Amino acid sequence: MRILVTGGAGFLGSHICERLLEGGHEVLCLDNFFTGAKENVMHLMGNPRFELIRHDIIDPFKAEVDRIYNLACPASPPHYQYNPIKTIKTSVLGAINCLGLAKRLRARVLQASTSEVYGDPQVHPQPESYWGNVNPIGKRSCYDEGKRCAETLFFDYHRENRVDIRVVRIFNTYGPRMHPNDGRVVSNFIVQALKGEDLTVYGDGRQTRSFCYVDDLVEGIMLFMEQTETVGPLNLGNPAEFTMLELAELVLRKIGGRSKIIYRPLPPDDPRQRRPDISLAKKVMGWEPKVTLEEGIERTIDYFRRKLGLN
Ligand code: NAD
Ligand code: UDP
Repeated sequence: MRILVTGGAGFLGSHICERLLEGGHEVLCLDNFFTGAKENVMHLMGNPRFELIRHDIIDPFKAEVDRIYNLACPASPPHYQYNPIKTIKTSVLGAINCLGLAKRLRARVLQASTSEVYGDPQVHPQPESYWGNVNPIGKRSCYDEGKRCAETLFFDYHRENRVDIRVVRIFNTYGPRMHPNDGRVVSNFIVQALKGEDLTVYGDGRQTRSFCYVDDLVEGIMLFMEQTETVGPLNLGNPAEFTMLELAELVLRKIGGRSKIIYRPLPPDDPRQRRPDISLAKKVMGWEPKVTLEEGIERTIDYFRRKLGLN
């Protein structure tokens, strides 16, 4: 198949491009390089089935493709809050442009949605049926509400125009090719510890997240795209739940050195807890994550060591 990956030069997108090429597909990687980089896909450039296109997804795009993975959107809070209006445009206009293209081509289109649609959840763990608890006017809203609106658009195009959609709600995912200055917690802690700096825990560190290693997530997304039992929404993530203090301690134990934990103010609307209910993914695709946090953190540490030129 010929497959378009928007945001293909980003962290998750670059892994998806790689896996699709391994599967024998042709890949069009579209990116405006806001948080992604050519470096993430440099190793794919020599492949004649790979094409890199600089384009902003808020503008319409034409290509003949069979599948669209729509991942274009900054994902880390400092990056999506840098230009919040642009973030909403990317989610909403990007969704409209991908859906318009899919409608015209009768292509299947997958939206990378997020656990942020559940906001600061009052149901725990979060099943797909939970409607969420989201502040519509806060600092995180540009991302959360942009992604919620994109989901609405996907389901309206599906109902009104019979567009073949897939909507996946991704929970915190980490691994090689995260940007060292991405600002998300796993990359922050590892890079800080490797540089011998103190680890910045926001708030009291007792808030929880459930971290999925990138290989598990990419496997799940690709299975979801090709199955025909459900269009979603479908949760993908690792249900093992940790506090940020536990994560900081794990990183310190693995890296050693003299770094300490220091406390910084909790950003507004930071969710207290988050853990996916993945029963639907298990039932539909027999999918569940295989890589433990400890293994995944070790692999990610190895990546950042090389990236920062520390070995
Ligand atoms: P990332 O920031 O590494 O990747 C996003 C990519 O989109 C980057 O390459 C960026 O340059 C590109 N992009 C941003 N705005 C664009 C625009 N207007 N036009 C074209 N390209 C644009 O982040 P990621 O972690 O790889 O996330 C990929 C997708 O998955 C995002 O949609 C994100 O919301 C979603 N997601 C990720 C996670 C996670 O934990 N990694 C969790 C939930 C959802
Ligand atoms: N966090 C932290 N230190 C950091 C970066 C983040 O303690 O240096 C916290 C953040 O407040 C949140 C959790 O880690 O509670 C996950 O943050 P991240 O930005 O990775 O993802 P999200 O909040 O979008 O789930």
